[in-house]
Amino acid sequence: MKTNFEYLMKLHPCFAAGAKNYKGRVHLPVSPGCNIFCKFCKRSFNDTVNRPGVARGIISPSEAVETVRKAVALCPDITVAGVAGPGEPLATPYALETFRLIKKEFPDIIKCMSTNGLLLPDYAEDIIEAGIDSLTVTVNAINPDIQARICEGIVYGGKFVAGREAAEILIANQLSGIKKISGAGITVKVNTVLIPEINAGHVTDVSKTVAEHGASIFNIIPLIPQHGLSWCSAPDCGLISKARTEAEKYIKVFRHCQRCRADAAGIPGSRDISRMIYITPVIPE
Ligand code: SF4
Ligand code: SF4
Repeated sequence: MKTNFEYLMKLHPCFAAGAKNYKGRVHLPVSPGCNIFCKFCKRSFNDTVNRPGVARGIISPSEAVETVRKAVALCPDITVAGVAGPGEPLATPYALETFRLIKKEFPDIIKCMSTNGLLLPDYAEDIIEAGIDSLTVTVNAINPDIQARICEGIVYGGKFVAGREAAEILIANQLSGIKKISGAGITVKVNTVLIPEINAGHVTDVSKTVAEHGASIFNIIPLIPQHGLSWCSAPDCGLISKARTEAEKYIKVFRHCQRCRADAAGIPGSRDISRMIYITPVIPE
């Protein structure tokens, strides 16, 4: 199936706006672990909290395919199958395995993945081969000093790397990965978490740089102050709006993100079918 940005604008609920915003997505929580340590990240397993990083449990790639079957039967407006956590999809093999299986059984469904980008250069070929149509990369800073205040460190090449050195590796891999993936014709969306006390004055630079590397759309996500960044404030509407207006000088800006759970299913902000499809989740120990 041929997909490009214009096609995604018509059929992907997160790209479409206004009247087109009636399409659905199913998030498949197949990715348990992560390879970086964002200070604001609080992953958890429950049935109630509505935010990224939360799921009822982890499912296997074959359970994920079964979940897509159930989801499209219940909600035929679902056009997208995505992996967005609760951990990092490239830190374990399950997300790519899931997409390979989905590609075989549902050749027309749009395949979407969210990554922190650390391993993007290593897995770019696999992402292309798995048929992923849309990739979201979370880039919170392109200045290593700022990034080091947001993320404590990374696990890279089997070693823990901390601080500025970790930030340099992460940023370099995110940008070269975005270039590689967008160069292959895959639409790249960049998410940036807006943290008033840390990166508010830097978001425009991020938008400009990721656009130069081939990203097509930019999503500014307001910080949920928690975990290691509970001392920060949630940005107010004025700050979010200002950041979006500034970023829009360089890249198309996405404005209606619902900050979905890692097992969200249905139509964002309207129909939720997740309780009907995730019946026997497995809570990791
Ligand atoms: Fe959490 Fe995602 Fe950051 Fe990993 S990349 S620490 S899962 S927010
Ligand atoms: Fe779309 Fe935002 Fe939900 Fe992701 S979190 S599926 S971008 S609305």
